[in-house]
Amino acid sequence: MEKTDITIIGAGIIGLAISYELSLRSKYKNILVIEQHPSFGQETSSRNSEVIHAGLYYPKDSLKTNLCLRGNRLLYALCEQHQIPYKKLGKLVIAPTPNDTKKIEDIYHNVLHCGVTHLQLLDKNQIRTLEPRISCVMGFLSPETGIIDSHALMKFFYEASKSKQVEFAFGVKAIGIEKKSSGYTLTVQEPNGDHFCFETTTVINAAGLHADKIAEFAGINIDTYHYRLHFNKGQYFRLAHPQKFNITSLIYPPPSATSLGIHITPDLAGGLRLGPDDQWVDTINYTINEKDKKKFFNDVRRYLPELTPNDLISDTSGIRPKLQKPDESFHDFVIAHEIDKGLENFINLIGIESPGLTSCLAIAEMVEEFLS
Ligand SMILES: Cc1cc2nc3c(=O)[nH]c(=O)nc-3n(C[C@H](O)[C@H](O)[C@H](O)COP(=O)(O)OP(=O)(O)OC[C@H]3O[C@@H](n4cnc5c(N)ncnc54)[C@H](O)[C@@H]3O)c2cc1C
Repeated sequence: MEKTDITIIGAGIIGLAISYELSLRSKYKNILVIEQHPSFGQETSSRNSEVIHAGLYYPKDSLKTNLCLRGNRLLYALCEQHQIPYKKLGKLVIAPTPNDTKKIEDIYHNVLHCGVTHLQLLDKNQIRTLEPRISCVMGFLSPETGIIDSHALMKFFYEASKSKQVEFAFGVKAIGIEKKSSGYTLTVQEPNGDHFCFETTTVINAAGLHADKIAEFAGINIDTYHYRLHFNKGQYFRLAHPQKFNITSLIYPPPSATSLGIHITPDLAGGLRLGPDDQWVDTINYTINEKDKKKFFNDVRRYLPELTPNDLISDTSGIRPKLQKPDESFHDFVIAHEIDKGLENFINLIGIESPGLTSCLAIAEMVEEFLS
């Protein structure tokens, strides 16, 4: 039977960042990444807002806050060093009406409490000077928020890992994991439908929307440990004529319990995207419901009064792998070495929703620390 030291399941941004981080250290050898699709980044990592977040929304000392803040700094530095396209545009978090002011002030004070000091509270005139088309009563500026070409980032991780001898097996799906006295036997399905097994000392589960199933293969009761994932879909519409609005910052209204609210995100190609919304779904289906255009229009027109229904065209969607059920509040990322479950050298990354893209390098560092 073939044998490898480290197997990473999933070549999304998280699996790729981990393979990159490990490949930089000569002590890690024989690293294999398996990915069920024919290429990397075919699921959530290519279906998101491509925002480098600044850790504004999560509780102090949570993994989401800490990894986002560290990941933000690491990502900007990596982009600079390796010419990965990005822009630090800054983000305006705004109160469209007086009823929203308290929510925005609460976010502002939470961010200060988390140790972020570079925010600027702004009145409506200051916001109008920055973004003349935006209507609101107050808000704050997060200058450390930006946008990134996430595909270029994944391509960088992939090529840098390959240059350090990381092996990638595409079209290969993990379908079984058996714990052995030392390490694991992984069963995989190849593109032609054949199954084969190999041994690995370490398993890193970075399987995104399917990470709970991988944990279950290893014998973890995902209900006992609250690892079961629930899908929450986010759709986007695009503005047909972005130049009409001339918006250069990211514009965010108050968030809901499950999403950041339907916001406006400039992209690196000069486009403007609206979204994502949030809808609980049972299956993975990326089609856009045209009927939801009205909801997007009504939401965004609250703070962009010049918007007309004809400005909106349907775009893409993504699905959030959420650990929280529809009626539950905040759940943190699960990033765990499962040694206390009898699974030495088995690392789970579950519920890596936003800000996962921003946090990818900090998450990779954390995984490396588990192994060292
Ligand atoms: C609508 C939306 C907007 C978002 N916006 C942002 C944002 O602006 N900023 C930000 O920081 N974060 C954002 N996020 C979060 C970010 O996109 C995710 O945290 C990140 O992409 C997760 O990466 P991943 O590698 O864990 O998952 P994925 O990209 O889903 O990768 C997992 C990979 O595992 C593979 N896989 C699964 N099962 C198996 C198996 N059995 N065998 C082999 N391979 C398998 C899959 O095919 C997939 O390629 C957003 C998410 C969504 C849904």
